[in-house]
Amino acid sequence: MSIKDYFVSLFKGIHSLIKGMEVTGKELVTPKVTEQYPENRATLKIPERFRATLTLIYDENGNHKCIACRTCERNCPNGTIHIDTRMVDLPGGKKKQKLDKYIYDLGSCTFCDLCVTTCPTHALEFSNDFEQAVFRREALVKQLNYLPEKDEPVAPAAPAAPAKPAAAAGQAAQPVSPKNEENNEKQE
Ligand code: SF4
Ligand code: SF4
Repeated sequence: MSIKDYFVSLFKGIHSLIKGMEVTGKELVTPKVTEQYPENRATLKIPERFRATLTLIYDENGNHKCIACRTCERNCPNGTIHIDTRMVDLPGGKKKQKLDKYIYDLGSCTFCDLCVTTCPTHALEFSNDFEQAVFRREALVKQLNYLPEKDEPVAPAAPAAPAKPAAAAGQAAQPVSPKNEENNEKQE
């Protein structure tokens, strides 16, 4: 190695060292971002949009908007959602499928948000409650509708109809209602 090459190499090394020290020096005066968790739990700021766990949105009256359509269950790529439903009677004799249990397995969720974005009634959202560590895998399976499901509104009482004359002597007259009429027809 010539004297010239020696000094070129020496100055390159010193230049590189100064560059490195420049980065280190900047970090020395930059405010620290290390979080002292869990000591700072009370003041910890988690971004609003952080996806920690799926939740069913309840309003202040304890109602949610899930209509048990199963769209989220079908769209979930991991089979993370399981919905149990039951049929309920509606006023007017119709039936309706109603949510019974909304089961969510946090352990298999990849937080893709598909369930939230495809829900037609905007019944779901992700909470940013990140403290979800548990000791058993099964504890990650949660029922999201944690409040008792409310009953469907009952039909208003039908106005009292005039009593029919007794068909035979000794037979007591029964109040007539559309339901009784239907039952009578069935019996016939
Ligand atoms: S949460 Fe939404 S998409 Fe899922 S079953 Fe309920 S209404 Fe349908
Ligand atoms: S975020 Fe994605 S993986 Fe998680 S439950 Fe919703 S659809 Fe399934």
